[in-house]
Amino acid sequence: MTWMNKNAAGYPVYAERARGARITDIDGHDYVDFSLGDTAAMAGHSPAPVVAAVTRRLAELGGASMMLPTEDAAVVGAELSRRFGLPFWSFALTATDANRWAIRLLRAVTGRPRILVNSYCYHGSVDESLIVVGPDGLGRSREGNVGAPCDVTVTSRVAEFNDLDALERELAHGDVAAVLMEPALTNIGIVLPEPGYLDGVRALTRRHGTYLVNDETHTFSAGPGGATAAWGLTPDVVTIGKAIGGGIPIGAYGLSAELAGTLTGRADLDLVDMGGVGGTLAGNPVSMAAARATLHEVLTDSAFAGMIEVATGFADGVRKIIDEYALAWSVAQVGARVEYRFADPAPRTGTASAACADPGLEDFLHLYLLNRGILLTPFHNMALMCPQTTADDVARHHEVFASALGELLS
Ligand code: PMP
Repeated sequence: MTWMNKNAAGYPVYAERARGARITDIDGHDYVDFSLGDTAAMAGHSPAPVVAAVTRRLAELGGASMMLPTEDAAVVGAELSRRFGLPFWSFALTATDANRWAIRLLRAVTGRPRILVNSYCYHGSVDESLIVVGPDGLGRSREGNVGAPCDVTVTSRVAEFNDLDALERELAHGDVAAVLMEPALTNIGIVLPEPGYLDGVRALTRRHGTYLVNDETHTFSAGPGGATAAWGLTPDVVTIGKAIGGGIPIGAYGLSAELAGTLTGRADLDLVDMGGVGGTLAGNPVSMAAARATLHEVLTDSAFAGMIEVATGFADGVRKIIDEYALAWSVAQVGARVEYRFADPAPRTGTASAACADPGLEDFLHLYLLNRGILLTPFHNMALMCPQTTADDVARHHEVFASALGELLS
């Protein structure tokens, strides 16, 4: 992949093996992995229960692609319902597809053409999401958008994160089927919601007859039921992917009872064949076996408690080092995920966060850390903890991070 080869300033390491929070490259170097496949490996690399479940599925039971539901699918659906509070779940292979399919369903039930997202969001390569607020305050295509099917303002509206006035203004047009958002932005640094913002989004979406989709693909780090459970949110739809498969490809979307009822009552929608929702491999038995093991045996309530404790140690330590060097940087945390940003106070919108990016500085830090056995998430200063990440791993990061700053500022 082109983007993989651009990793680490154009000199990516090639991976050979990985277990827990460790990766070994083809030259035999070990790394503490704080990237964890940008969340796909938040359960740690190849957790034993997932290996056992997938092996059993493939070797003993057989049937990787039967196009039939398995018992595991029902168990995973029930567990996702318990965690996220939405009763009906369907599966995809990626979070991108979960978002695409949720969008199609919500356009269908509302008859409204547009989707609203936050400026500088990321929801996968979803065409509707590639819109930002321009300097004139109006929506425009995100820079570098590849092969858009039409001008993005035809399909989308945009508001800054933490800006309820802008959201209200955009929803007042009455043409927005759904707001698709992360409860905290996590793909342009971390931008945390200000007090009252998420309640305001819920109230405004209800008032304007717009469905609310929480994309929990990354904010799942907030706890066993993501930000939805941790922060008491009540979306109509949750989309997710990555970590719930324990490293095996998966995506999922959960619907409220009201929404599922409306959809199944719509005889005009082709939900089973060519209508645009679904795929041959979605809900396949391997993904389902992996997700069952991940949710029931790996990313459990107690595992999250440990991961969040280690992440808090990561955040505290980085803050201390930044203070020691008197840098105007800030640190944000969403449960097991921590990010430092080159701005203080922390940016409160996606556009402000995009403006404080410094690709040269990021490359320097990533490469400095990588050469000393620490892997951060590409494109970010983001660190994620898995159940096997230890306080010693965090201490090793801090030692190298402090040394990087020392060299940079000497
Ligand atoms: N939603 C969010 C919030 C994400 O961060 C990402 C990937 N970084 C996606 C969706 C897309 O996930 P996938 O690559 O599995 O399609």
